[in-house]
Amino acid sequence: MTGAAGDCPGRPPISFELYPPRSDAAAIALGRTIDRLAEVDPAFISVTFGAGGSSRGRSLTVLRYILEHTRVEPMAHLTCVGSSHAEANRLVREFLDAGITSFLALRGDPPEDGDADAGLGDLGSAAELVQLIHRVQEEREPFGQVGVPGTPRARRIRARPRPERVAVAAFPTGHPRSRGLAQDVDVLLAKEVAGATLAITQLFWRAEDYLGFVERARAAGVTIPILPGLMPVTTPARLARLTQLTGVEPPAELAIALEIEPDAEARAEIGETHAAALADAVLEGGAPGLHLYTYNQHGTVRSVLERIGIHSATTHG
Ligand code: FAD
Repeated sequence: MTGAAGDCPGRPPISFELYPPRSDAAAIALGRTIDRLAEVDPAFISVTFGAGGSSRGRSLTVLRYILEHTRVEPMAHLTCVGSSHAEANRLVREFLDAGITSFLALRGDPPEDGDADAGLGDLGSAAELVQLIHRVQEEREPFGQVGVPGTPRARRIRARPRPERVAVAAFPTGHPRSRGLAQDVDVLLAKEVAGATLAITQLFWRAEDYLGFVERARAAGVTIPILPGLMPVTTPARLARLTQLTGVEPPAELAIALEIEPDAEARAEIGETHAAALADAVLEGGAPGLHLYTYNQHGTVRSVLERIGIHSATTHG
């Protein structure tokens, strides 16, 4: 039997993030992108979820495509902002029924125009959603039966099945609403205690931000793998938008280099070189793999991986 998808000996596990398409044309392009990303043999591909459930159907369609057309594990982002317990319970069941067993449990952000804490719903934090995912899975299948090899009609009760992965977010340079970096570590530990099996970080621009965060998390007792989230950025407009969205300030030299370079190809070179150097540095520092934010484009992330010596399993280019 061959190894599981993403299990490439001698190579760090790679994973990707996509967002659900907003038009039919974008959906067709995304199908091609998923096929090209799958060639890299990633451990999983995660699909974002609009807070408040705005993208539920579209997210599920992308996850189903990954499940049915590739051998890559699909991971569903789920957010709990604004959900009642009953709604969140139904949502988790719907995804489990669709065959999705890996989740990234998030609080999500309240609408920008409202009071930050108003309308949060029953579930106030990602940790509560992590617990809910495990609980729904347990209620759904209190026990499972599996066949006994060699005895066709015999069944035995297997251990209670668990979701493959329940990941959570981590913030190496601090969540915009956190009181300090220590709180971000405490919140991550609470999510692990609630049952999270993996953390994926917000993007960061300096290897020392990630490595320092991991060191503090380990000192505080966090034991789950903390995957660095990297986003190669090749235009000044996207860099500015990301800074606004995440509050994470990019290095001035990267911002200036992208700003003053008029040629698109040369800008791509700048962004990819920066991302590749960051990827190398975090792997060198002990990162357990790389999670790449793709912006629904395969070309840039594949170039970054090729720059650090990771090629697709089948074709190149
Ligand atoms: P939590 O872990 O619940 O908390 C985040 C922060 O809030 C904490 O670090 C802490 O500073 C503060 N906090 C939490 N609990 C408390 C408490 N009890 N007291 C005081 N402060 C507290 N958003 C989407 O809408 N859809 C997505 O698909 C999506 N995907 C993402 C993927 C990744 C990898 C990341 C890093 C973020 C993603 N987000 C997404 C954004 C995320 O929903 C927001 O950053 C949100 O504000 C925090 O979510 P969380 O799960 O980290 O929340």
